[in-house]
Amino acid sequence: MVKSLKIILLACLLFSQPHSAFALNFETFDQEAIRVVVIDPGHGGEDTGAKGPSGVAEKDITLSIALKLAEALKDSMDARVLLTRTSDVFIPLEERTAFANANRADIFISIHVNAAASRDARGTETFFLSMDATDEDARRLAAFENDADSAGAVVVADGGDLKDILLDMASTRSHHESSRLAEAVHLSMLDKAGREGRGVKQAPFTVLVGATMPAVLVEVGFISNPSEEKWLSSRKDQELAARAIADAVVSFRDIMTKRGGLIEISGKRIEN
Ligand SMILES: [Zn+2]
Repeated sequence: MVKSLKIILLACLLFSQPHSAFALNFETFDQEAIRVVVIDPGHGGEDTGAKGPSGVAEKDITLSIALKLAEALKDSMDARVLLTRTSDVFIPLEERTAFANANRADIFISIHVNAAASRDARGTETFFLSMDATDEDARRLAAFENDADSAGAVVVADGGDLKDILLDMASTRSHHESSRLAEAVHLSMLDKAGREGRGVKQAPFTVLVGATMPAVLVEVGFISNPSEEKWLSSRKDQELAARAIADAVVSFRDIMTKRGGLIEISGKRIEN
């Protein structure tokens, strides 16, 4: 299929987005700054997300961390910070990404918490989009998160054309930037929030599909682990996680605007 046709199909996929806005967002970092950040608290309303052993719901943790992240970002950089939800309401996955595109966000951060059959599973995982999951756990996790919206099944289906488009997207500059943002967030969570790291991974998350800006999904911790459920529920630790992510956004901006340069985050060097 010729590339222009793929772009038209992609534009259809991003039905709420005119071509011009799509093109503009890929150029964002040539102009130096992060002007708009969209934070996406996972789940909401009837979609509770995962539940902890003592009954804490993922949707409440994600909203709380997202609100704190919004405050932390407003403190640390001169950007417009928008949230896909600020209360306990259900929002379909595609609408979250469309909201980021419509507001011409420069970055998109989706906040989630993880769950596993083993109560011992712990730590932070940071994801960016790929049709091919890093491993079986990543694939299963994406399937769980995508289940929040029935349309998710369409997006991750192994259809030829759609898959081609997604694979094309994977080679875009935005994809490269997403991997850098994911690294920055992950390292900051380890260093500044004291989290155990399970790695930067890739998986086919519906909420990241169609985002025209660097986009990541952070699984802050395992709500299925009693001690992590406690950590995730603590206001102090939520604040720690929020600050760590906000610091990472600032570091990411510095990486992306320092052409060809290097920046140190938590003692580890990330290349532009
Ligand atoms: Zn989730």
